[in-house]
Parts: sequence; structure tokens; C-alpha cells
Amino acid sequence: MIIILKKGADASQVEGLKSLLRARNITPQVSEGSIQTIIGCVGDVAHVDPSILEALDVVESVQRIQEPYKAANRKFHPDDSVIDCSGTKVGGGMFAVAAGPCSVESEEQVVGIAKAVKAAGATLLRGGAFKPRTSPYAFQGLGADGIRMLQVARRETGLPIVTELMDFRDIELFNDVDVIQIGARNMQNFNLLKEVGSYTKKPILLKRGMSATLQELLMSAEYVMASGNPNVILCERGIRTFETALRNTLDLGVVPLLHQMSHLPVFVDPSHATGRAGMVDPVAVAAAAIGADGLIIEVHNDPPHAKCDGAQSQTPEMFASTMERIRRIRAAR
Ligand code: PEP
Ligand code: MN
Repeated sequence: MIIILKKGADASQVEGLKSLLRARNITPQVSEGSIQTIIGCVGDVAHVDPSILEALDVVESVQRIQEPYKAANRKFHPDDSVIDCSGTKVGGGMFAVAAGPCSVESEEQVVGIAKAVKAAGATLLRGGAFKPRTSPYAFQGLGADGIRMLQVARRETGLPIVTELMDFRDIELFNDVDVIQIGARNMQNFNLLKEVGSYTKKPILLKRGMSATLQELLMSAEYVMASGNPNVILCERGIRTFETALRNTLDLGVVPLLHQMSHLPVFVDPSHATGRAGMVDPVAVAAAAIGADGLIIEVHNDPPHAKCDGAQSQTPEMFASTMERIRRIRAAR
């Protein structure tokens, strides 16, 4: 249930309304938008009679909502969330591009790629240090060393760094990381979401699970937000369907839909969505055209020899050409 307040509502009457809600075991979440102030009611509202609230002087109207996500819900927070990723702003009409290798392989590799993607216009450096691999025999990432190498690349380029956390036991290694990625496989690792949300207010880049509905994605964002961290960026990275021609099926229509459902920024990952370097450019451009707030693009200096996801990695030259096309599409929107 949400309560829409009258413009210029008297502060002491608003406080009175909040205590009335609390007395009924409802937590009021006040959201002051530029146009209207709204109170989201978290808790069991089944026993609250909206007409009693509507009779109050400060209340414009009361709406019941069905969605179980509150903090992530656009209805509670009408303005876009703008998330500050150590200087790179995400959301609210800005466009961010997180680029870099699927996995950090050496300092030289990640610094070289970081310089190339920065020159092409990337605004975040993304590289994996802890890799969720299907096979236990596949390269698992450089771990703590990989994070250190990302930090060197950040020093060299000024790009804030994004990297994936798989296990909360590693969290201290992420204290000097700018954005923490929670990958598709961990999207519903609820304990991890709760622990991360209560440990830090750093931006969390939350990727959609490969068979997750949008409501499930938003409920996972809700876990992080309800634990105390409002800074969540959603990411559509393709889902599993009957179609196997590409690595995943990109659900591009969710970008405007998520923007209706939620105030959180929405990224698209054309690399994991398609699995093919040659498909990344058109899909990235389509994502920019449909209104995504940003992209994740995998870039490798030597894709045939990459330790992970070489087939979907653009070369720095391909990436520079995609960035140019994105700039033109963004200007035309
Ligand atoms: C990744 O971003 O490198 C990754 C493993 O992606 P996902 O979690 O979307 O599969
Ligand atoms: Mn990858």
C-alpha cells in the first residue's frame, strides 16, 4: 500500500500519520520526490482500512499495490535512482559502459585493456578475479592477485573497477573495489545478498539469473536494499530458453519494463547474452537504443587465447567502433 501525501503537507501531521502506521506494525518508508511525497507501507497492510487514512488531512490518496518488492518499486520512489560508482554516475539518463576482460590474466593484460577501453570511452573497468566456472577444471580466476591488478589498472587509467564477489568470506578483498558484481548464478544466493547489503553501501551490479523472472530479479535487489544498501544496478544478460542458437536469449524488452517497475538503473550485457563477439556490436547498439542505462562488454587483447569467454570478447578495435555507434545512437534518441 502507498499513501500519496498532499502537496505541502504539514510536517507534524505527517509524523502523526507515521506513528499511526507504526502502531499498526507497519514501517513507513517516506520518499520525497520532486513532485510528490509518498509513504510506502511495509508490513501486513491487510488489516488497514484505506478509507480511514484517506480521511486524514495530509493524505491525497491511498493505493493498494500487489508487488512484493517495496524498496525497488517505482511507485515508492518515482524518480530514477542515480548511483555514484566512485565518480561514474549510473542512471537518470546517463550512460555508463563497463568494459574489460572476462578474467584478469596478468597485470600487463588488464592495464593494457583498461587503457584501450578508456580511450574508446568506457566509464568503468570490469574484470573477473573470482570466476564462476561450470567446470571445476576450468580457470577459476586469479583471486586476490586479480583484484590487486585491477587496482593497478584503476591507478593507471582512473577508471572505477567492477568485479564479481562469489563468496562472502572474500568480502575484505573487495573493500577497495568500486562496484561489486553479483553474478547470474548467485542472484538468488539470499544469504550472500543479505550479507553484502548489510556490510556495504557500495554499488551492487546484480545480474539476472538465467531462469529468473523479473519479479525474482527485483526481489533479489530487494534483499540487498532491505539489508541497508539502496545502490543496486540491475543487469539483463540473457536467459535460458528453448533457443540454443546463441549462448542465451536476450530479453531486451525488459529494459523499458524494468524502468516502469523500478527506479533502479538497468544495464545490458550483450557479451554473455550472445556468446559471440560478432553479435555484440548490434546488440549493444540495440540496448542503447531501447534506453538501457549502461552496458557490460567483454574486451580482450587476444580473444583466441583468452582464459575465459574468448569467443564473445571484442578486440579493443571492435570495442572502439561499437562505442562510436553507441554515441551516435544516444545522440539520436
Ligand atoms: C560475468 O559477468 O563474467 C559472468 C560470469 O556473467 P553471468 O553471471 O551473467 O553469467
Ligand atoms: Mn565472461
